[in-house]
Amino acid sequence: MIRCVASSDALQVRFWGTRGSTCASGPEFVEFGSHTPCVEVRCGDRLFILDAGTGLSALGAELSQNAPETIDILLSHLHLDHISGLPFFKPALLGKERVIRTYCGHLEGESAIEPLNRLFAPPLFPVRLGQLPARFEHNGFRAGEPITFGDGRRIETHPLNHPGGATGYRLSHRGRSVCYISDVEHSDPWPDPELAAFVRNADLMIFDGMFSDAEYAYCRGWGHSTWQKGVELAKAAGVKALAIFHLYPGHDDAYLKAAEAEMQAVMPTAFMARERQSLTFEPIVETIPERSGPVLAKAGQA
Ligand SMILES: [Zn+2]
Ligand SMILES: [Zn+2]
Repeated sequence: MIRCVASSDALQVRFWGTRGSTCASGPEFVEFGSHTPCVEVRCGDRLFILDAGTGLSALGAELSQNAPETIDILLSHLHLDHISGLPFFKPALLGKERVIRTYCGHLEGESAIEPLNRLFAPPLFPVRLGQLPARFEHNGFRAGEPITFGDGRRIETHPLNHPGGATGYRLSHRGRSVCYISDVEHSDPWPDPELAAFVRNADLMIFDGMFSDAEYAYCRGWGHSTWQKGVELAKAAGVKALAIFHLYPGHDDAYLKAAEAEMQAVMPTAFMARERQSLTFEPIVETIPERSGPVLAKAGQA
């Protein structure tokens, strides 16, 4: 598969699943894709995976034998659309040496082990995660606390307004940063100052814009936001590019393209995230103060 050509030390983002709640399917759902949330982030060679929705199976198929021996999956929360790809992640089926670590921040410090073991067990599912060849390690933290990894990398986190809670992440590498803000319902007033501080000046914010402002009147309290609120937050916080994510599975390609055009009239660097779309942010070289823009590649053009 052809990937975006970038320096080996770039911050790279690739969308493997952009739908929220459930999959979308059919000829009118081709451009933006079908799978539920999963985003690959590369900090140079270092892999992080954001959420384990059905898109994780496609990422796993591409990683296959070349997957790292240790894989870190940062979970926003445990609603089904964010975890249902876990048992279908091919690297978990290949080799006993591999360790897959999950991180979960909305259970008051508890890890995801108990709910995941409850779900992935008969009669709800035929195979337990513990029966897969790879070894799973489940880590808990409190959203708002940073996660520090053994190799010294550090990821910032933030609690999100969502039924049962959810965690936002901020990953930084070589002067670049991407924020993952899914799933979240906006507050009143908006933008929320603490969330705005968390995403401030990010090169990319991936944001739950499941609905439009017009639809929101019917979806209040469901735990999701709108693309208009995403633009408001991005602009208030100096975010450079905005990816609207957790797309409503009833919104077909025609709807999303029209909404994207409307959105780009007010924020030209905003877009609706497309499955398999890649973005590359080259490292900031300290002797050159100006940042170059993101390199965007649409699905099939990477
Ligand atoms: Zn969701
Ligand atoms: Zn959710």
